[in-house]
Amino acid sequence: MHRTKVRVVEDVLDANDTIARANREDFARAGVTVVNLMSAPGAGKTMLLERALDGLADAGVRAGVLEGDVQGSFDADRLSLLHVPVTQLNTGAGFGGECHLDANMVRSALPSLPLAELDLLVIENVGNLVCPAEFRVGEDARIMVCSVTEGEDKPLKYPLMFRACELVIINKVDLLPHLDFDVERLQANLDQVNPGVDRMLVSARTGESVGAFRAWLAALPGRATVAA
Ligand code: MG
Ligand code: ZN
Repeated sequence: MHRTKVRVVEDVLDANDTIARANREDFARAGVTVVNLMSAPGAGKTMLLERALDGLADAGVRAGVLEGDVQGSFDADRLSLLHVPVTQLNTGAGFGGECHLDANMVRSALPSLPLAELDLLVIENVGNLVCPAEFRVGEDARIMVCSVTEGEDKPLKYPLMFRACELVIINKVDLLPHLDFDVERLQANLDQVNPGVDRMLVSARTGESVGAFRAWLAALPGRATVAA
């Protein structure tokens, strides 16, 4: 019985990978580089995008966002103020309220995306440290945001998520003076699960080091980092 269950999960992930590859081919054909942005709820993905996407056009990169949420369009409404194309994808509408995006959901959003107008598409995943890491959606790179209010142990507790990304953003560093948070310990834990992974310490709130993240994004089109 147990063996059957494991088999079903593997089949689901195989099917997802097949659709993810199709998505990636469609994105590549349109000349769009895709980032899958993941984090726990409240780590600051949306505010980071508000800060980083503002100014990308000046760097010559036309960016858009596919906003994944269980329901509502709170984040999409915020990002729309930046005058970048934002498409809302709700997992509550026909996808059973899933707590992650999968390749099929992103595929369903493709006709709504203005791919011809984009160089870079950021997919803001549903806030969750577990299953988003298991589902490729057709992205070229994966970024995760962890904030200093979450605890240094998170890479050890959610290793798949921290292992699945090419860049870790350590957000909310403006709060460090008020916290007993050991950044060195977080980084040591990070190196245990994903040795040497790129990382940036930023504050989306104050804008500290957001420029470095913007530059990372701006350099991404043309240097895809993940194997299909
Ligand atoms: Mg958000
Ligand atoms: Zn999920």
